[in-house]
Amino acid sequence: MNGTLIDGKQVAARLRDRVAKSVAALPSAPTLAVVLIGDDPASQVYVGSKIRFTRETGMRSIERRLPARTSQPDVVETVRALSADPDVDGILVQLPLPAHIDSAAVIAAIDPAKDVDGLTQASAGRLMLGQPGLRPCTPTGCVILAKETLGDLSGKHCVIIGRSILVGKPAALLFLEQNCTVSVAHSRTDNLPVICRSADILVPAVGRPNLVKSDWIKAGACVIDVGINRIDDASRKSGSRLVGDVDFEDAEAVAGAITPVPGGVGPMTIACLLRNTVLAAYARRGLDVPDGLSI
Ligand code: NAP
Repeated sequence: MNGTLIDGKQVAARLRDRVAKSVAALPSAPTLAVVLIGDDPASQVYVGSKIRFTRETGMRSIERRLPARTSQPDVVETVRALSADPDVDGILVQLPLPAHIDSAAVIAAIDPAKDVDGLTQASAGRLMLGQPGLRPCTPTGCVILAKETLGDLSGKHCVIIGRSILVGKPAALLFLEQNCTVSVAHSRTDNLPVICRSADILVPAVGRPNLVKSDWIKAGACVIDVGINRIDDASRKSGSRLVGDVDFEDAEAVAGAITPVPGGVGPMTIACLLRNTVLAAYARRGLDVPDGLSI
């Protein structure tokens, strides 16, 4: 390949090391509470990884696994109890929730001081207002990868494809905080390839396999592929494989640097969750942000 491969696994491992050092400097280990409702296989895998890495960095984790039929008031009550528990530093509600549960009501029950996914109104408001707070994990991971690759991001044109609450919108605000010039594209955007070709940093967060081709990419651009899509692949034992939103084989010859899928943004999302948990623990103990965890 011509461009550099951005190794998300390696960057995430280094961030987890810094998290572990910050954990070790505390008199008592921070605790992450994970709430999982139902038995969605993908959610089980994600929760398993999050718990494993939480423990590997020296933190404690507690789990609240509830059956899919649990009523909304019961889910909200579970989250409220964790919010009120002085021993819990971070609360993660694994999304998506079963269809009969209103995610917004559940998220509203998370104490903003423990909102390690950065999804509450308070966290979103603080991000919008430029105030300190817990930032959403995946977009934070994108910014860290871009800074690892390019250094100072000031003045770079960052094009984000996608405007979801989880990824696209917070990513736009976080790259703006880094003094990028930010464009946000979506399904109604005209001339999408032309807009993408003006990007120094391209962040597709769509959920369409191989949407972004080489002729959408400016030569030398940094491409941070957020998309995770499962496609059929008869050559694999499993019959399928994961790909991003970028046609990797096509794009790698043009991009200056590019993340693989898997092994790019995904590991950063978990590392940023651990970072947020330790940041929440320090803030709840009245301590400053530990060295090595600022972005
Ligand atoms: P989402 O809520 O479905 O949002 C998708 C966004 O893409 C929407 O804003 C939509 O535009 C836009 N879009 C759809 N088709 C488009 C097209 N043809 N051209 C341009 N824009 C288009 O998804 P999400 O939660 O943000 O997730 C996006 C992807 O990232 C998914 O593949 C997801 O699995 C992945 N993801 C990865 C991680 C990770 O850790 N790596 C974390 C979270 C999500 P409209 O608003 O106009 O509909």
